[in-house]
Amino acid sequence: MKIICIGRNYADHAKELNNPLPVEPVFFFKPDSALLINDQPFYYPDFSTDLHYEVEIVLRIGKVGKNISPAFAGRYYDKIGIGIDFTARDLQRKCMAEGLPWEMAKGFDNSAAISKFIPKENFNDMKKINFRLDINDKTVQQGNTRDMVFSFEEIISYVSRFITFKTGDMIYTGTPAGVSPVKIGDNLKAYLGNELMMDFLIK
Ligand code: MG
Repeated sequence: MKIICIGRNYADHAKELNNPLPVEPVFFFKPDSALLINDQPFYYPDFSTDLHYEVEIVLRIGKVGKNISPAFAGRYYDKIGIGIDFTARDLQRKCMAEGLPWEMAKGFDNSAAISKFIPKENFNDMKKINFRLDINDKTVQQGNTRDMVFSFEEIISYVSRFITFKTGDMIYTGTPAGVSPVKIGDNLKAYLGNELMMDFLIK
């Protein structure tokens, strides 16, 4: 399986990092070795001193697809979860300044924390899903899918022009404003609606 992440998909987040709003979806990959599951702790890596959380809604791809039209793209994901796209912001800034790829800042081990998945039928309206991240029981990020620059369908359609989707692939769909560093000892709790989906520690 592969993990595809969308960048700058919430205007307020693009603005906080002084990035322009994209006219087409921006995407990058994390390897499967990046997954952090079952509320296991995230161990602070030795190569960064500015490790940021980014809470994101994650789609689980339910069937193989290529060149998918937006009208049919909704059929290609079957479940929704929530994840943290951990980012070594110091390394990412360095890569960007030098015009280099971001993988070392985004694809390292355990950088893709992921919750359980919920069938999409459990959601009434994909354009009104609330989600949030609490750190030490204080809300630090709050999003709603109505504020996405590109919808789930637009993302799937666009990426599938370049990359074949396979069952089990995941798409991290972008983060709202409020990204900041984590520190050792922090407790992260991510919610879809009011449902607690993830609860783990930074060690
Ligand atoms: Mg992200």
